[in-house]
Amino acid sequence: MLLNQNHGQASAVAGAIAGAVLSIDLGALRDNYLFLRQKLHGVACGAAVKADGYGLGALQVARTLVQAGCRDLFVAHLEEGIALRPHFSADVAIYIMHGAPVGCEAEVLAHGCIPMLNSLPQITAWRELASQKGMRLPAVLQVDTGMARMGLGADEVAACVADPELLAGFELLFLMSHLACAEDQSHGMNLQQLHAFKTLRQQLPACRASLCNSSGIFLGEDFHFDIARPGIALYGGAPVAGQANPMRSVVRLQGRIIQTRQIPTQTSVGYSATWRSQKPSTIATVAVGYADGWLRSLSNRGVAFIAGTEVPMVGNVSMDTITLDVTEIAPEHVHPGALVDLISAENPVDIVAQRAGTISYEILTSLGARYHRHYIEAH
Ligand SMILES: *Cc1c(COP(=O)(O)O)cnc(C)c1O
Repeated sequence: MLLNQNHGQASAVAGAIAGAVLSIDLGALRDNYLFLRQKLHGVACGAAVKADGYGLGALQVARTLVQAGCRDLFVAHLEEGIALRPHFSADVAIYIMHGAPVGCEAEVLAHGCIPMLNSLPQITAWRELASQKGMRLPAVLQVDTGMARMGLGADEVAACVADPELLAGFELLFLMSHLACAEDQSHGMNLQQLHAFKTLRQQLPACRASLCNSSGIFLGEDFHFDIARPGIALYGGAPVAGQANPMRSVVRLQGRIIQTRQIPTQTSVGYSATWRSQKPSTIATVAVGYADGWLRSLSNRGVAFIAGTEVPMVGNVSMDTITLDVTEIAPEHVHPGALVDLISAENPVDIVAQRAGTISYEILTSLGARYHRHYIEAH
């Protein structure tokens, strides 16, 4: 992490000594934002920048998006909001999706963040603070329409309706809910949740509404309401399962070869000897491992690209290294110091995730702290 804070010449040196280089294309990020906004036809486009901007650096990501016109940033934890707040003017709203931690309502207010109220106790606590301060305090209200994770259930909405005092004293910015299956366009949950959302909305005081994550934007205008909250598509993840990904690739991960060796046939590679050569082979060891978020489930399943050619990852992923079978690659491309592509436009994050048995979100948010991070500025 120390290396990441260097700039200019120091940064070039850090790039040369690091075991891997993570390049983050802020221009592609901006283009992805503009693409989603254009799909929303005038509906406000916010951005989920939780979990350090899906692993890409919350501040760099948020700056780029705000420059592109985004005025609504969504984080999960209060601490994430506190870290971002000083970097943006007051016209940029920062929403805390977990709501105020119990007993920390005053901190949310003091740091200029806006809580999502997800439960009756959170509502009561925010209300108490509002009456203490003698002012109306802004908040977002979440209702549960099918995830059973956060937000008021139908019975709790009924309690709010029965006691209008509960919601008095707030400036209710918008009502929101979250889709469980939006990436699967044919899933029955989508219309079910849309219907539930509309029904609950009718019972509550009139205000703006928000339902869409990235995938939801692609479900059509009925789902758009007044403000969208995309995350993964901004970062290059595919928003619609089974369809070509329209988003630009944002992340490139290059690992450095630290050693190559010739092995005879019937030689095992790596921990637990899970791979054995079927002929004399060349193995390249790359300085990226599961401690860097290169998931161990990619053992004998991941691939790398060297000079445009796919090569298989062989043997188990170690903590600090992976091993590639580079027998078919010309020697000038495989020498200590050379970089190989682990995530790139030709090996996108969704494919890496599929090979690892997970989703793009987990690959991105696992990206390690030892990578040298190189931000390509948007121009
Ligand atoms: C993470 C999150 C989003 C963004 O979802 P993506 O699928 O990444 O677009 C939106 N809303 C809520 C409530 C979230 O937790």
